[in-house]
Formats: sequence, C-alpha cells, structure tokens
Amino acid sequence: MSQDRRELVLGELGLLPLWVRRDHTHRSEVQTSDGARLDPPPPPAAAPGQQEEKRAARILRSDWAQLKQMVKSCTDCPLHAARRQTVFGVGDEGADWLFVGEGPGAEEDARGEPFVGQAGRLLDNMLAAIGLKRGRDVYIANIVKCRPPGNRVPQPLEAARCEPYLLRQIQLIEPRLVVALGKTAASSLLHTEASIGSLRGRLHKLQGTPLLVTYHPAYLLRNPADKAKAWEDLCLARDTMVGLKAGRTAFT
Ligand code: URA
Repeated sequence: MSQDRRELVLGELGLLPLWVRRDHTHRSEVQTSDGARLDPPPPPAAAPGQQEEKRAARILRSDWAQLKQMVKSCTDCPLHAARRQTVFGVGDEGADWLFVGEGPGAEEDARGEPFVGQAGRLLDNMLAAIGLKRGRDVYIANIVKCRPPGNRVPQPLEAARCEPYLLRQIQLIEPRLVVALGKTAASSLLHTEASIGSLRGRLHKLQGTPLLVTYHPAYLLRNPADKAKAWEDLCLARDTMVGLKAGRTAFT
C-alpha cells in the first residue's frame, strides 16, 4: 500500500495523526504522523481503594526482614512526621503469647521498644503474675508503630494504615493467644466500639486466633481499683492458654 493510500485508510479509521509502535523493550512509543516523538501516556492511576489493597497485599507477603524495613521507612500516615523512630515490636518471634497495646509513648519513641515506661513496668509485673517474662514465649506490639504526638489516641486512619503491619506480625508469629490491652487495641483489632467492660471475660476471634481483652496498664495506673478485674482477666488468659496447649479448642 502506498504511503498516501495508507494515510487515507488510517485517517478514515480515525487513527491519525497518531500511531503507536512497540519497540523491542515493549515500551509504547508514540509518534505523530510526521515522525515527531511524544511521551507515552501514563498508565491509568489505581483508585485509592485499590492502592490501599495493593499496599496491604504487599505487606501481607513480606517476611520478617522485609516487614521490619517497611515499618522503619513508613511514611504512610501523619504520625511519621513527629516520630524519633518507629517501634516495631519486641520479643520471641515464635511466641505463644502476643500482647497488643495502643502506641508508643515518649520513652518508647526514644528507645524504639514498646512498653518501656511506667506502664511497661506494670505490664512486666502483670506478665510475671502469670509466670511470663518479656521476650520468653511473649511478643509485645502496638496498634500503631509511631508515637502519636502528646500521647493522644491514634486516629482511625493512623490505626488503619498500621493494621496490615500488625496483621502480618500475627501471621508470622502465629501466637496461640492474643491479649488486647485497653480500648484502642480492642476496638482496632475487633473493629468494634464496645466497651472494655463488655468485651472482657470472654474469648473473641481474630482471624482464627483466640483473643482476650483486658485493661491497659496505663489505665490501671490511674485506676488501681480495677487491678482486681485485670487479675481475673490474666487468670482467664492463663487458663485459656493451658487449654489451648492441651489441644482443647478455644471456640465452641
Ligand atoms: N502504651 C502502649 O500502648 N504502648 C507502649 O508501647 C507504651 C505505652
């Protein structure tokens, strides 16, 4: 076909003045009919929901090293701006027990480890009360990995952005039992606004893993009268673990 005839046919088909040729690297190269090059069109942008899903899928495929690196370099919510460092979590990566708090405070932000302040000392005592020790068959993590400024409660968006990191930690640890410490941990993990009072004392399920709820150590420091209820919760947790280790199913 002559060049003139070809252009006539392409014109009739509405394909002029542009045509697209694949080069050997399979990148689209766009030229005008007079041979000038144009930048290839950008790929269609993923919708925000799809981007969020892709991000979560990438996190949920990671191994420990990748996950730690992703958290360390995360800038996906406003909390990264004021942090000194991220607080990933600490303990035995094959632990039976996983305790989940709210988010790092000032001391945790400075040291890079969860629960190292006053509330952390009470948590260590709570662990000791049922024969546990930080780092020995116990892992400790938080809902958010960066300190909320002024120790405020994490915003829903901040908790949501951090959620895949914690879910991946849970998948990798495979704990027998998760203990949610306080309202923020319980609400975020169970996606409920119910009170601690109504959630404690019974087993919940987090993606197939048994979960119990108790008071946050910082709350107990302010409300020591509730330590008796926390002790009940710890006894329930200890008895539940004995049952789980004996192969008794947690859910009826
Ligand atoms: N409170 C939390 O919830 N987490 C910490 O790491 C410290 C205090």
